[in-house]
Formats: sequence, C-alpha cells, structure tokens
Amino acid sequence: AKEDHDAGFKIYESEMDAFIRDRLRLIKELKIAIEQEQFQLWYQPKVELSSGKILGAESLIRWVKPDGKVISPFHFISVAEESGLIADIGNWVITQSIADCSRWHQMGFEISVAINLSPGQFRRGDIVSTVSKALNYAELAPEYVELEITESLFVEDDNSTKDQLDMLVNRGMSIAIDDFGTGYSNLNYLNKFNASTLKIDMSFIRNMTNDKRQQHIVDAIVQMSKAMGLKNVAEGVEDEATSTLLQSLGCEVAQGYFWSKPVPFEEFVHFLKQ
Ligand code: C2E
Ligand code: CA
Ligand code: CA
Ligand code: CA
Repeated sequence: AKEDHDAGFKIYESEMDAFIRDRLRLIKELKIAIEQEQFQLWYQPKVELSSGKILGAESLIRWVKPDGKVISPFHFISVAEESGLIADIGNWVITQSIADCSRWHQMGFEISVAINLSPGQFRRGDIVSTVSKALNYAELAPEYVELEITESLFVEDDNSTKDQLDMLVNRGMSIAIDDFGTGYSNLNYLNKFNASTLKIDMSFIRNMTNDKRQQHIVDAIVQMSKAMGLKNVAEGVEDEATSTLLQSLGCEVAQGYFWSKPVPFEEFVHFLKQ
C-alpha cells in the first residue's frame, strides 16, 4: 500500500511540474509575442436592430503565431493577467483599436470602437495616458471609444481603478458592463462606475427562443436598463429568430455570428462597404 501511495504522489508531482512548466513557457512566449507584435485585433460589428445599421465594432485580440496558428484569447488572457503582462498587451490593444477606428473614419465610416479592459490593466496606472496619447495621435474624438469592463472589476473596489475610469468618462468615453448578469451584479456599482451600457451575456441569449425562463431574464434586463437610463446590447445572437425576438423585447443593439464573426481589419472594412 505504501508503494501505491508513493507512486500516486509522484504522478501528482510530475503533473504539477508539467503544469508549471507549461505556464512558464507560455509566459516566455507571450513576452516574445509582445516584443514582436504577434497580436492582431479582429472586429465584430455592433448592429442597430431597427435599421440593420452598423454602429460600431468590438475589438477582440488574436495571437497569430509565426507559423500562422491563431490562438484565442481564452488561452492566454488569464495568464497575461496573472503574470502582469496584460498591462503591455492591453496598452497595445488600446492604441491599435483607436488607430483602426480612426482609419474607418478616414474611409467615411463614422463608427465607434469597443475595447475590452481587464482589471489588471488598471494596476500600473498608465491607462489614462495611453488612451490620451492614442486619441491625440489618431485624431479621434473620445466619444467614439467605448470601454468594456466586467463585473469582476467591481470586486477589486479600489479607489485607483474607479479614479482612472472616472477620468476616462470625464474625457468623453463611455463604459459598458460586459457579460452582464453572470458576475457580481450589484446595481449600486452601475452608478458608481458611471456605466452607460449593459451587455447582456450570451448565456441568456443562446436559448431564449425556446426557453421561456431565459426570455424572461433578458426581458427583465432590458426593462431594467431602460428604467435606469442605460443602453443595452445583446451578445451572441446567432439567428434571425433571436434577433426578431430581441427587437420585440425592446433591445436596440446586438452582436453575433448572425451578422458576422470577429474578422481581421481588412475583412471588416470589406463588410462595412457592403
Ligand atoms: P467577450 O468580451 O465577452 O467577447 C465575446 C466573445 O464571444 C468573443 O470571443 C466573440 O468572438 C464571441 N462571440 C461573438 N458572437 C458570438 C456568437 O454569436 N456566438 C458565439 N458562440 N460566440 C460569439 P473571443 O474573441 O474568443 O474572446 C473571448 C474573451 O476574451 C472576450 O469575451 C474577452 O473577455 C476576452 N478578450 C478578447 N479580446 C480581448 C482584449 O483585447 N483584451 C482583454 N482584456 N480581453 C479580451
Ligand atoms: Ca467584450
Ligand atoms: Ca461578453
Ligand atoms: Ca467575457
């Protein structure tokens, strides 16, 4: 029996080693990726349901390895957060998103850009200056920039994060609460963080056409956002039936594969021209 225990422990230990080794390799690769700018931003349109008009686009990061393999943010954003590398990656995302939005404007498309922000990006304290520099350089008005934060930011609840967000809002940018309904939905926070938009999480949208309960949840969030003077956006809309139902519930803006998956810059421009 003792031997079995030893063997079991060894397997456990080597799995831990492998786990740590993989993480360290990923962190090392991420550092190189930052230096060599191996990241790309792909864009997904935000569509006004009543008109079908494209109001803006959300930037979504992709890591394109030298061999051409595209890595989803699910595989590296959390490690980037934990290792602190998110500050550098996030600054690149901000600068590139704003530059790309400015290019759309030069092409005659006056749409906005939505940028995902992680809690870790507020720790270093250079987010406001990064945004300001990017706006100046791109000659873009701050009104065209929307910042998507999640409810996980509320848990941090430190004044520095709130101060930085306040500065960004005071400069004319707007805040959207991403994945609304999945986290620590405390309504006080919506006012505290000056949010102007709720993004209804796609887990509520996914089955709403055949699940009445899901539909009631979406209905309640839409009504509540209106009562609070907030805009709402539905994410993860994959078919026309869901789009129609959302519109009948009073939802105004949506995103999802029904219109377009996130696509590289050039492809998105092509989409805008159609
Ligand atoms: P998110 O911000 O909630 O983004 C929505 C995710 O849903 C995206 O996955 C998008 O491609 C996907 N999606 C959009 N429409 C549909 C649909 O109709 N059906 C389905 N099944 N999925 C849809 P993606 O691009 O893999 O991004 C995953 C997450 O990674 C994002 O979730 C966000 O939390 C994070 N992320 C992405 N880009 C950035 C970034 O630049 N910075 C930070 N901090 N996080 C990012
Ligand atoms: Ca988002
Ligand atoms: Ca989301
Ligand atoms: Ca998310």
